Amino acid sequence: MVYDYCVVGGGIVGLATAMELLELRPGASLLLLEKEASLATHQTGHNSGVIHSGIYYTPGSLKAEFCRSGSKATKAFCDKYGIPYETCGKLLVATNASELNRMSGLVERARLNQIGVERLDAAELRGREPNIDGIGGLLIPETGIVDYRRVCETMASVIREAGDTIEMNAKVTAISERQSSVIVAVGKQEWQASRLVVCAGLQSDRMARMAGIQTSHQIIPFRGEYFRLPPAKSGIVQHLIYPIPDPKLPFLGVHLTRMMDGSVIVGPNAVLGFAREGYPQFSFNLRDVSEYAVFPGFWKTMGRNLKHGLKEIRNSIFKAGYLQECRKYCQSIEIADLTPYEAGIRAQAVLKDGTLVDDFLFLETARMLHVCNAPSPAATSAIPIGKMIAARIIGKARML
Ligand SMILES: Cc1cc2nc3c(=O)[nH]c(=O)nc-3n(C[C@H](O)[C@H](O)[C@H](O)COP(=O)(O)OP(=O)(O)OC[C@H]3O[C@@H](n4cnc5c(N)ncnc54)[C@H](O)[C@@H]3O)c2cc1C
Repeated sequence: MVYDYCVVGGGIVGLATAMELLELRPGASLLLLEKEASLATHQTGHNSGVIHSGIYYTPGSLKAEFCRSGSKATKAFCDKYGIPYETCGKLLVATNASELNRMSGLVERARLNQIGVERLDAAELRGREPNIDGIGGLLIPETGIVDYRRVCETMASVIREAGDTIEMNAKVTAISERQSSVIVAVGKQEWQASRLVVCAGLQSDRMARMAGIQTSHQIIPFRGEYFRLPPAKSGIVQHLIYPIPDPKLPFLGVHLTRMMDGSVIVGPNAVLGFAREGYPQFSFNLRDVSEYAVFPGFWKTMGRNLKHGLKEIRNSIFKAGYLQECRKYCQSIEIADLTPYEAGIRAQAVLKDGTLVDDFLFLETARMLHVCNAPSPAATSAIPIGKMIAARIIGKARML
């Protein structure tokens, strides 16, 4: 049998893409291959669970566009299938004059990105969040939270109910593009499909190379480490609390996030990982480290971000440093409040010149599309990303 479509990766981008392919071409045959025993095992199941509004992104960029439409699409999907979510709003907190200045820039950016914001002075901030200290704040009411694992399970049900197949424990080991189809192998077992979409997150560069595509980037793992506050402190905040981001850094800074189970987590930081899929602290994988150690882009990016990188490593090893990051805006958190919580690992594409790829990166051939960088907020944006990929794949098929 030749499938119309094969999708590799049971994270939210792969599942949304499969769902949108079937939406655009009902009745098409589709096979999704996931190497783990459960869906959303990697980035999607280890994230902060935030439905972002998209305030940070350059107006007119793909990231801004996908995030704005993705936030609406995610909430509509949850409404349709009865998945609980909460629109609890997010507060960006300025703690000094330079952050207050940068906050003004974000107000303008919100206007350009058509996102509703409310500026708060110190007293209004205290009124809304008595446990948060700041000299000003920016409230984004539409930001929400959801359990993305539940979103993925529901997407998988939609795919299965359409009569299509999701194979778990199916680690793709070879890909070969022919003139009329693509052969995908899992060990000795082979499948054939007219088109292939690969959404392999932390393994995406290896999968592209496995398929014979020349790449000029490499995935470098950046751990996002969290702590959970004890149940007695679950009511410490009503909104999601974020620092004003530093424009020189690609990550958003340690924040306080309310989760759907009622707990509050602190994090994530962004510290160099020594294993792409090793979640416990100090995980080490020789292949992962030796691959980036010989990649020139790794040393260039480390050189450029040395001071910040060392600070992140120090704060990862010593809780007191991590605590300092949260205490900038929440004095009532104590060291004993930082209880263990599993880390997430970001698949960060880095170019040979050391540039951290900030936007989506797609590599295409006649019959394949590889998603090579799907950075945050790709969980929020997955549905429009899936729509775009599906339209591209189907449009291309018509041209062949
Ligand atoms: C710490 C952290 C916090 C984040 N917070 C947020 C947030 O709050 N909101 C938000 O919108 N975004 C957030 N993000 C970003 C978001 O989670 C990711 O961008 C998104 O989940 C990427 O989805 P994906 O499907 O591309 O990757 P993944 O979820 O990593 O899925 C890739 C899948 O491919 C599979 N795979 C890999 N190789 C193979 C193979 N050879 N054969 C078969 N299968 C394979 C993997 O097992 C995996 O299941 C966060 C990310 C991290 C790491």
